[in-house]
Amino acid sequence: MPDITSISAAVQGIKAATDIAKSLRNVDASLEKAEMKLKIADLTNALADAKISLSEVQELISEKDSKIKELKAKLELDSNLEYEDECYFIKKDKGEDEGPFCYRCYDADGKLVHLVNVKSYRGCYYCKVCENHFGDPNDEPPGANMRM
Ligand SMILES: [Zn+2]
Repeated sequence: MPDITSISAAVQGIKAATDIAKSLRNVDASLEKAEMKLKIADLTNALADAKISLSEVQELISEKDSKIKELKAKLELDSNLEYEDECYFIKKDKGEDEGPFCYRCYDADGKLVHLVNVKSYRGCYYCKVCENHFGDPNDEPPGANMRM
């Protein structure tokens, strides 16, 4: 799992490569060919390390991007949810609201689960996931004017 230290590793790798490149620029004819080859090998290694660290940074940023996208979607959904009689409904600008959904499943697991209308108990809803019943059988169904 890449973390934020990948950025400093990349910066250090690039700095090392720059230092080696500088020393190569100041090289004079007296520098041994073997020594020259060694410095070029060091330079190549430093650049390869920086490249690896940068791809870790890229992966980290893309992970954070998808997390931000996920949270934004959740935030938007949260602001459109309306709570009524232990159920959630999604508010719609036009037309009928959507729902009811199980409040327990959404609050605990962030999942929108449609509730099933239990016909034998008027106003009573059942969640197939958490197996809870909602609503008072003697009351009007929550969102009675809304479509299931
Ligand atoms: Zn549930």
